[in-house]
Amino acid sequence: MIIHLKKEIGSAKAQEVAADINAFLIEEPNRYVLVSSSGQKSIDEKYTAIIEESFVFDNDMQLSSRAYRPETREVKIGNVTIGGNTGNTLVIAGPCSVESEEQIQESSALLKRLNLTTLRGGCYKPRTSPYSFQGLGLEGLKLLKKMKVEHGLSIITEVRDATHVQEVIEYSDVIQIGAKAMYDQGILRACAKTRKPVLIKRGFGTTLQEFVQCAEFVLSGGNDNVILCERGLRTFETKTRFTLDLCGVAYLKEYTNCPVVLDPSHAMGHAYGVPDLTRACTAMGVDGLLIEVHPNPKVAKSDASQQLNHEEFETLLSTLNPLAKAVHRKII
Ligand code: PEP
Ligand code: MN
Repeated sequence: MIIHLKKEIGSAKAQEVAADINAFLIEEPNRYVLVSSSGQKSIDEKYTAIIEESFVFDNDMQLSSRAYRPETREVKIGNVTIGGNTGNTLVIAGPCSVESEEQIQESSALLKRLNLTTLRGGCYKPRTSPYSFQGLGLEGLKLLKKMKVEHGLSIITEVRDATHVQEVIEYSDVIQIGAKAMYDQGILRACAKTRKPVLIKRGFGTTLQEFVQCAEFVLSGGNDNVILCERGLRTFETKTRFTLDLCGVAYLKEYTNCPVVLDPSHAMGHAYGVPDLTRACTAMGVDGLLIEVHPNPKVAKSDASQQLNHEEFETLLSTLNPLAKAVHRKII
């Protein structure tokens, strides 16, 4: 249940009511917002005078639901905004991993040349094998920061576990919570305490309900800026790396108020399929696309098979605008 309390009651009273009904308390400029379990369907009559409005739900998809907040929330990333009425489809691009200064400078130069604003690159990589490249860690974050300062790019990078979450929050403009990390409550709770945008990737065996409930962990802590990212599910199929759940994306767009980003690179797992899949994703009318691109994919230290080279990426990008336009979107 979500309950709006009148602002004039003051913080102490709002805290008292929150404790009484075991609810999260979010302080908004014009009201206090209490969020308790969806199992709660009513509140004691003694509080009637201080309640502005209340909302009852049949499951714990509450703050993230369109039933509560009909418009897609706006999320600001550097100088650009997605969601709301912007109609923007933000292209987030860059290598799977930050590998060296030379590499990330080349990636940054590509983005600048193509008028893109948001650079991705992992520094704490959640690898399947402990013997694979694990990322440059803090050294990589410092390189990303350098790209932000030198080129004015916004930075999105992933947090692998709760031990370095504060570091990632400090260095990034958008915190990426990966498909394997999305169940880590240490990460989710830390991200709930910042106001920086958080992009949560759906686990490859995660239901839509579980996925959206991860977003609720962040939203209920008072961080409004949650973006959902579909990146493919594990199915019986082995010819492609994962199976991109576009039906799930239709569901998220219909029932949740969080901006939705699609990641065709991890879903496909092979560069040959990424351009077509990106075009299909664009036609879904989503708020963003996350695409892996590397100056020389053959030597990439992670996800080598799926990363586009610069030429392939540029060609792909040049095909997206008419598709975006057809669904009343603009590629930014
Ligand atoms: C990535 O973005 O490089 C990544 C590891 O993604 P995922 O968490 O979706 O596997
Ligand atoms: Mn990757």
